[in-house]
Amino acid sequence: MRSWPSVYLPPSDVSTEHPVLRLTDSYKNEVIELKDLPITSYVCGITPYDATHLGHAATYLTFDLIHRFVIASGKKLHYTQNITDIDDPLLERAKRDNQNWEDLATSQIELFREDMTELRVLPPDNYLGVVESMPKVIEHIMALINTGNTYELQGDIYLDLNAIPDALTDLPVSLDEALAIFAARGGDPGRTGKRHPLDTLIWSAQRPGEPSWESPFGNGRPGWHIECVAIALDTLTGQPWGNAESSTSISLQGGGSDLRFPHHYMTSVQARAITGRKFARVYLHAGMIAWQGEKMSKSLGNLVFVSKLREVGWSGNEIRLALINRDYRTDLNWEMGLLEEARFNLQRINSALSREEVAPTQNIVLEIRNSLSNDLNVQGAIKAVLEWCKETEAGAGGGSAGELSRALDLYLGIAL
Ligand code: ZN
Repeated sequence: MRSWPSVYLPPSDVSTEHPVLRLTDSYKNEVIELKDLPITSYVCGITPYDATHLGHAATYLTFDLIHRFVIASGKKLHYTQNITDIDDPLLERAKRDNQNWEDLATSQIELFREDMTELRVLPPDNYLGVVESMPKVIEHIMALINTGNTYELQGDIYLDLNAIPDALTDLPVSLDEALAIFAARGGDPGRTGKRHPLDTLIWSAQRPGEPSWESPFGNGRPGWHIECVAIALDTLTGQPWGNAESSTSISLQGGGSDLRFPHHYMTSVQARAITGRKFARVYLHAGMIAWQGEKMSKSLGNLVFVSKLREVGWSGNEIRLALINRDYRTDLNWEMGLLEEARFNLQRINSALSREEVAPTQNIVLEIRNSLSNDLNVQGAIKAVLEWCKETEAGAGGGSAGELSRALDLYLGIAL
């Protein structure tokens, strides 16, 4: 799949070593030092049917900060993002709107590309749809079947969770919660004949009127989680899977917090069943973008899209700063005040950078690095930059505006 245009990155100053990136794993809730070389990152992409673009933007901006930091550190990054371009919600929406499902997907993917471009998000090395990856997905389903840990139910194929060590005892939520979330997010816990209600669908036999693909196990289409397993293992680990030196298949898997369960959990279980190794070293989940109640939602209803905000005069920089200047794991109540604050701060930074004399910049660049390495503490970085503005406004000198300007661009994606 065509990605979006690459983004210029200013050169990084590697004369002093970057701190190790420390991130809090969403399952263990403990800090992991990301020291892998290369760093392999898999961020789950959109299902292109009816996206809340501002929420998506916030998620992909979070991972963009990680990718920028890795590259700035002089480390090699391999980054893959998928597109779930065949799935129940896409088919249901296309049917409801009497639209071709492929046309609907194409239009939404294009909109997403535009948003990512406007926000200066670094594009993935591999941007892959499930449909175009179908031979690889089928290959990985075959590998899963060959482990002997699947079973058939009226032509559909399920993973037998009871057969996978720890799969049912390591759930990140209670069993009751797991069943409820599973049902709400595409699972079928109540289906008669399943060995365990949480067993996940690997392959769905062809239903009348639905698209399908040929496979050694009949015509049909893949389940949700195995798609990401296949695309991640295929693009990021190299084959054969067992030969890589790392103890995990990839460095990090990320997405919005709504993917924590079941999607990322089931992805890890399925990948582990195939490879015998833990899937990702660290799992990260960005908080959701929420509305402050119905009124706010209604009044801003036409402004949730990045493109709409741009149309009414907000810049990519302003939208970007408004979305990243927070604790990425916490849900954010979106309000226009965040954009106004971002605009005010950017103007202040820009004005300080335009002065003939600016306060010393070497330490501020190090502070930006240090803050980001500490679990993406953007708020700490911005606070330090605003302190620098204050010193500059008070007449301090001896710094290099270019040095700070390049750092803001490189680490935070803010080009002034
Ligand atoms: Zn995924």
